[in-house]
Amino acid sequence: MKDKRSKETIADLFVFDAHCDTASALADNPWSFRRAPTHIDLAKAGKGGLKAQVFAIWVDPLFAPQRALKRGLQVMQALEDKVFVPGLAVKALTVAGMDQAVGEGKLAGWVFLEGGHIIENSLEVLAVFRSLGVRGMTLTHGKNTDWADSSTDAPRSRGLTALGRRIVAQMERTGMAIDVSHVSDATARDVLQAVDVPVMASHSNARRLCAAPRNLPDDLIRAIADRGGFIGANFHPAFIKFRVYEQIEANFGRFAAKIKARTSGRMDDPQFLSQIEWEYFQRAVVGNEPVFMDDLIDHIVHIAAIGGSRCVGLGSDFDGIASTPVDLKNAAAYPALAAGLRRRGFSEREVRRICGQNLRDFLLRVERGAKKR
Ligand SMILES: [Zn+2]
Repeated sequence: MKDKRSKETIADLFVFDAHCDTASALADNPWSFRRAPTHIDLAKAGKGGLKAQVFAIWVDPLFAPQRALKRGLQVMQALEDKVFVPGLAVKALTVAGMDQAVGEGKLAGWVFLEGGHIIENSLEVLAVFRSLGVRGMTLTHGKNTDWADSSTDAPRSRGLTALGRRIVAQMERTGMAIDVSHVSDATARDVLQAVDVPVMASHSNARRLCAAPRNLPDDLIRAIADRGGFIGANFHPAFIKFRVYEQIEANFGRFAAKIKARTSGRMDDPQFLSQIEWEYFQRAVVGNEPVFMDDLIDHIVHIAAIGGSRCVGLGSDFDGIASTPVDLKNAAAYPALAAGLRRRGFSEREVRRICGQNLRDFLLRVERGAKKR
């Protein structure tokens, strides 16, 4: 009896996650998306009730300025070859298209760019990506672009430049989701001033609970929510608990000399540098204080308290993070997260919104915002 009920829950669950780096993992390894040693694959999606997923085309800023576009295209082609062409997921170009795929029992996959450096300062390249099916872009990654500041780099433009404003205006006009995860607070505020459409932070937590610069201060949570925007809670322990953030930073400090020695003479090889960076990222999480799903839910509760339960959802960052909460190891664990949300007092309707409906509704508002223009 109990078993039957839990099965019904999984079938009913609509999990739609706003951010993962599975495309990079598929690009760099000989794995099939059917079953892979990744946080997300088709088997885990089936077990976890994951019905729709935003796949980020992440390009390490180390590839900028001249090799970012090529790397972006390589990662995007890996996603085509391994996920869309074999029919393991349907590429979602509209919310109606996603709804149809999900209704037919297929995984719906959205494609976003992660890092504005990928378009190499070109509005035309941005338009080409849209034609190829890209429906959103995270404006920066960990480094400033020429037109927008990152939260983890020294301030340069102090927000958006004139080119940055043209880029977000084009995204608004063409119905691409504008993602302010990774950008500096000043950039996020400039974006909110520059456009009328709702804006998302696809994978960011609350700075009030964890003081990492990647997380959102309360005033930005409120501003994003007031506009009908979306905030996806990030599962990376460093963005959940500040103690873990400090431990990882300290470990990187200890690795600095070793990294310098290993990369000397290879500074012209971003693929190699990026691999080394990932290797040490994995080492830096060893021995960190454990983080649990309930610590993540604290962030969801806080974001909902500030912005309301219609602005918050999931932005797992799966396959882009070297560790996870102990009891939330991969996409198969989503039913446990839904149960955790219920335990913390969210109603059934709110759980459904947080797990996926809020993100769907946000993307619909972005589509409609573009049509109105
Ligand atoms: Zn990211």
